[in-house]
Amino acid sequence: ATPTALLVGTGRGAQMGLLIKGPEVLESTRRVDTIVMDKTGTVTSGIMSVSDVTVPEGRDRADVLAKAAAVEAASEHPIAQAIAREGARAGELPEVTDFANTAGRGVTGTVDGAVVTVGRPAGDLPAALATAFTGSQEQGGTPVVVQIDGEAAGVITVRDTVKPTSAEAVAGLKELGLTPWLLTGDNAGAARAVAAEVGIDPENVIAEVMPDDKVAQIERLQDQGENVAMVGDGVNDAAALARAELGLAMGAGTDVAIEASDITLMNDDLRSAVDAIRLSRRTLGTIK
Ligand code: ADP
Ligand code: MG
Repeated sequence: ATPTALLVGTGRGAQMGLLIKGPEVLESTRRVDTIVMDKTGTVTSGIMSVSDVTVPEGRDRADVLAKAAAVEAASEHPIAQAIAREGARAGELPEVTDFANTAGRGVTGTVDGAVVTVGRPAGDLPAALATAFTGSQEQGGTPVVVQIDGEAAGVITVRDTVKPTSAEAVAGLKELGLTPWLLTGDNAGAARAVAAEVGIDPENVIAEVMPDDKVAQIERLQDQGENVAMVGDGVNDAAALARAELGLAMGAGTDVAIEASDITLMNDDLRSAVDAIRLSRRTLGTIK
């Protein structure tokens, strides 16, 4: 394609809500045959809500929720915001000191003299909580564990909803000959439920990936000879977006994700990824 055709292509992209970094991006967009999608905030809305709180005998449910919510209120994570909102509905949240956040794991802080952590389980759970935890995962939920002074004090389940246009987008990507994958730090049950809803093969679901390992998963697919596009929105996704042959960031995503990407999808609609690939192929004359 001539430089003029490429410029026309990127201009046309802008009209479609695709912010394309430069004309050369169209060439990589044309070439990709595999598309890896982050789950939370990309395929799903990323706006989670609490569906269940389970506490063991002898624990006060409202107290556990209030403590967890207080600590989560200091975090921007979608899980954190869901728990903080739910706790705040019951009243003012207690004060937190010594807040700390570990990406891909959870949060910790001191509330009323007790050390409270919320996140992935650190060790075995007592039977009642273990049942709640695995049951919730099997039903496609995302359970997190509340620990108070080192003791498992509750399981809080949050749920996300798939964006209404994601299934149509996945179908469009397949029509263009791309193999869709789902990549997430969330548990396999929640990941598979989302995959099934949008039409991603269960074998193409990579779950429980720590933030730093997302890029290694992209490299693994590249080592198998795939030309990989990655779509993401989070700080966690930035390295993978940069490593992929083509990085697509959601417009509402974090600045680092947008900076690391080649194309920004201004409307946060996964169907724009289909538009981008179709536009590149048209611009470069591969399809009409
Ligand atoms: P994703 O790839 O879906 O954006 P993350 O890598 O951010 O997921 O998080 C992975 C897992 O770590 C979550 O499913 C949860 O179990 C735990 N986690 C991370 N941040 C928090 C938090 N603020 N509160 C509770 N759990 C958290
Ligand atoms: Mg995300």
